[in-house]
Amino acid sequence: MEYQSENRICQNCKSDFIIEPDDFSFYEKMKVPAPTWCPDCRLMRRLTFLNWFNMRRGVCDGCHTSMITTISEESGLRIFCQKCWWADSWDGTEYSQEYDESRPFLEQVYELRTKSTFMCNESLYSSLVNSPFVNAAAYQKDCFMVFNADYGERTAYCMMYAHVQECLDGYRLKNCELCYECVGIYKSYRCIYSEELDSCTDVHFSRACSGCTDCFGCVNMRNKSNCIFNVQYTKEEYKEKIKEFKLNTREGIKNAYTLSRNFWRTKPVKATIGNSLNVNVQGDFIYESKNVKDGYMISGVEDSRYVQMVNMSPVKNCYDYTNWGNGAENLYECLTVGEGAYNNKFCVQCWPNAIDNEYCLYAIQAKDCFGCVNLKRKQYCILNKEYSKEEYFILKAKIIENMKNRPYVDATGRSWVYGEQLPYCMSPFTYNETMAQYYFPLTKDEAINNRISWRDIPDTEHIITINTDNIPHTVDAINDEIVTEIIPCIECGKGFRFNNLEVMLHKKIGVPLTDTCWKCRFKRRFDSVNLPRLYKRNCMQCGTNISTSYAPDRPEIVYCEKCYQQEVI
Ligand SMILES: [Zn+2]
Ligand SMILES: [Zn+2]
Ligand SMILES: [Zn+2]
Ligand SMILES: [Zn+2]
Repeated sequence: MEYQSENRICQNCKSDFIIEPDDFSFYEKMKVPAPTWCPDCRLMRRLTFLNWFNMRRGVCDGCHTSMITTISEESGLRIFCQKCWWADSWDGTEYSQEYDESRPFLEQVYELRTKSTFMCNESLYSSLVNSPFVNAAAYQKDCFMVFNADYGERTAYCMMYAHVQECLDGYRLKNCELCYECVGIYKSYRCIYSEELDSCTDVHFSRACSGCTDCFGCVNMRNKSNCIFNVQYTKEEYKEKIKEFKLNTREGIKNAYTLSRNFWRTKPVKATIGNSLNVNVQGDFIYESKNVKDGYMISGVEDSRYVQMVNMSPVKNCYDYTNWGNGAENLYECLTVGEGAYNNKFCVQCWPNAIDNEYCLYAIQAKDCFGCVNLKRKQYCILNKEYSKEEYFILKAKIIENMKNRPYVDATGRSWVYGEQLPYCMSPFTYNETMAQYYFPLTKDEAINNRISWRDIPDTEHIITINTDNIPHTVDAINDEIVTEIIPCIECGKGFRFNNLEVMLHKKIGVPLTDTCWKCRFKRRFDSVNLPRLYKRNCMQCGTNISTSYAPDRPEIVYCEKCYQQEVI
């Protein structure tokens, strides 16, 4: 069938959005109606189910032992520690419900969600060694406060990484070692305070460099050594000059941070970030991908649109898909559905090998399940109740009809017909506990006025034991006793402390201790990266039309790919 582009009004934010002919073909293939929410609102809705780092101590409702949980007690939900959740003594059918055709289906899924049992966090706990304070993590050894992480060792305060060792304070790292305060780095070793590096060693305070060693404050350089602010020195000169920056002191680090960021701003940036192995892609932070539109922080994705935060390939033919990968095909409106996932719609946290599921939340190894919550290794289930294959397909078709004619309507009048993702009220988290608050921040009043859940997150009470000035200023002065002290963060004033791993890493990487708490450090790194939004602009060199994540009012000099490549030295 020939489709035409159509303009629609978003049911949620009331702004216009366009559905293109290719999009209609995808919806037809997936047998779903076109969405009634715009792409941004759809991403925001998925992110309300993603809580990476609001963790707290709690007590398991099964074995009553202490556990680290991402779900708060105030949620009123039953929460099991990982051991109890994965135990063979239950599979979720204990909570099964009979479908009641006189009521909206999603209302019934909500009831099931409220009485079923959630797992305390999202880590593959059997693969963790000595790493209790991690979330959305797998294969970690001796790690602390790492999130969305695969394969790490002795790493702390890092998010979104794969295969790293002894890294501290990082965001988007792949195959790295001994890196500190870096964002977007690949195959790099002993780099600090740098962004978008590829295959670099001992590169500090630099941006968008590849194949460099021993460089400081450099931008857009390829295969260089011994450069400072893009100026070439001899090896001996470099060694002497670099001493002047006193990088072994906290004051030196702060000064270098300001100097480098000021220098970066004088050099052009590429409209969007990605590598040369892409074919026909549009979006930001895209690597090794093909035929992708509106992608964001993805690698190894093909024939997809509106896909975000996918670290692990392959991913094929997905729309509105956020977080993970590792074998995902024909997915629509899914979050954290990966590892052998095929043909799932409107699902959250379904893995591994989730096949042909719809409207499921935490369904493990599910196949042909519809509207199931906290269910393990089942097929042909609706509301956690098992049916024969024939019964399943007849009832499922009936429910889909019912969802079209009798949708769930929330308190603000938004209707959740068949074809929309699970409503936010299904999330075990409040809005401000999730990544939605980072990508689409709301004030408490805005959330409450829109009937979006909110919880005042109490800060852990700390009694400050030393002032910030008493944190050792140099690397040599770092002593192990510092872990007993509680220090006020220079930015937010709240107390924080160092742990042994962090102190060890500061010494080993050779950087002085910080005076900023981990949340403020994380926020600074998060804010240094553009959000998943593209703007139409002109290349500031040749004037050609570009789409870029740099908003028109940003101070950076933004170039098209071609002009940018001419700037690279
Ligand atoms: Zn919208
Ligand atoms: Zn337990
Ligand atoms: Zn702070
Ligand atoms: Zn240009």
